[in-house]
Amino acid sequence: MAEKFDVIVVGAGPSGNAAALKLAESGLSVLQIERGESPGSKNVQGAILYSDALEKLIPDFRDDAPLERHVIEQRMWVLDDDSFVGTHYRSDSFNKEPYNRYTMIRAQFDKWFSERVQKAGALLICETTVSHLLLDGQRVIGVMTDRQGGEIYADAVILADGVNSLLAKKAGFHPELKPKNVALAVKEIHFMPQELIEQRFGVKGDEGVVIEMVGKITKGMMGTGFLYTNRESITIGVGCMLSDFKNQKITPYELLEQMKAHPSIKPMLEGGEMKEYTAHLIPEGGFNAIPNLYGDGWMIVGDAGMFVNAVHREGSNLAMTTGMHAADTLIELKSEGKEFSAANLKRYKARLDESFVMKDMKKYKNMPDVFHTNPQFFNDYPDLISQAARTMLTVDGVDKKTKEKQIRKSFSQRRSLFGLMGDAFKLWRAFE
Ligand SMILES: Cc1cc2nc3c(=O)[nH]c(=O)nc-3n(C[C@H](O)[C@H](O)[C@H](O)COP(=O)(O)OP(=O)(O)OC[C@H]3O[C@@H](n4cnc5c(N)ncnc54)[C@H](O)[C@@H]3O)c2cc1C
Repeated sequence: MAEKFDVIVVGAGPSGNAAALKLAESGLSVLQIERGESPGSKNVQGAILYSDALEKLIPDFRDDAPLERHVIEQRMWVLDDDSFVGTHYRSDSFNKEPYNRYTMIRAQFDKWFSERVQKAGALLICETTVSHLLLDGQRVIGVMTDRQGGEIYADAVILADGVNSLLAKKAGFHPELKPKNVALAVKEIHFMPQELIEQRFGVKGDEGVVIEMVGKITKGMMGTGFLYTNRESITIGVGCMLSDFKNQKITPYELLEQMKAHPSIKPMLEGGEMKEYTAHLIPEGGFNAIPNLYGDGWMIVGDAGMFVNAVHREGSNLAMTTGMHAADTLIELKSEGKEFSAANLKRYKARLDESFVMKDMKKYKNMPDVFHTNPQFFNDYPDLISQAARTMLTVDGVDKKTKEKQIRKSFSQRRSLFGLMGDAFKLWRAFE
């Protein structure tokens, strides 16, 4: 039976849940369609949850959200083959409520989030795949699902169907995803006793530590590794651009196995039992790869719109924020009695432009190109930085001035003076 809603939201990840929650709270009739058997069953994330975006949607989320540890320490490691040079930032201010960041497990989190959405009045149907959008000319008027008699109509459809949005692609709103714009990440969860985690990472209670890693663990490919402490488990993973995997001829599984065997990483996993292995794509094409985000009767939010800040590993917060702005745009238009046409939905893009989302995406717009074409940042520099640290820290009767000369020489031999200057410029361009 053909039904009609104010809005259909495709997908029950963070972007879809954020949009559906706001819309339902404002009294619009909302249908949310999820292909997984439950929200979160198909979703993969590290995962760090940034409080700010969720707090704007659910101010009391800390009361019952399934959170693991609040993050009090952030480590950043540059690894060569057998060592790392790192920075640690630990602050007592991160140990004061309200906490800024948490580790969490996505399957549990998405389920909890979705329950809040349903309580607000949205109707959720799971185990249902939207196969294509229903169009009247250029205008989206509903969706076709894989259920019998699966046509459902709405005044607007929000595409929150994640990276590689097949629906937008089929409708011609989204170009084919290029391998250079998408990373493939694999991760494992290793279970171990809470006391062991606390002892090993120097934390107590619900305090947590995250480690972000770059360097030779990615074999010259553009990518990063990560390790996060959960309450009774550790999440470890690595992700690199899909196009690099093709050229390197190493499987993501092999890459993770080699990373886990690194002498600085292996001891952190000892005593753990690996219980979960997952792989997922991450849209990392950045600002220049953002597709058209709206049209007559439709909007794109979250990963489907390429909203991931790879430098800061932020994705779920961008997903929630874009979902929230899409919903706010529809709520505003509805209250003004205006239709959901492309001309009116451009307010969604204007809202994003004003928010941290577009500003951050724009800031790092050159980053994918710079790192993708300069493997020395992932190969040569980790070696050189580590060698420099080793040289300075080895006490062997050689005076420090001579050691400085040796370090300078090793840099200019490996990259040449012009190479070093060029790399400094490229780094400035990537982060300007
Ligand atoms: C390994 C890894 C680590 C990450 N770590 C972090 C992190 O630490 N912090 C962070 O903020 N972000 C992280 N991210 C990014 C973050 O997971 C994403 O940015 C976020 O999940 C995007 O949310 P979304 O709702 O747009 O898409 P998704 O979470 O992918 O949700 C899309 C939903 O749509 C459903 N769907 C798709 N197609 C259809 C269809 N045709 N019909 C019905 N349903 C459909 C899917 O089943 C899914 O539930 C990580 C990602 C990965 C892969």
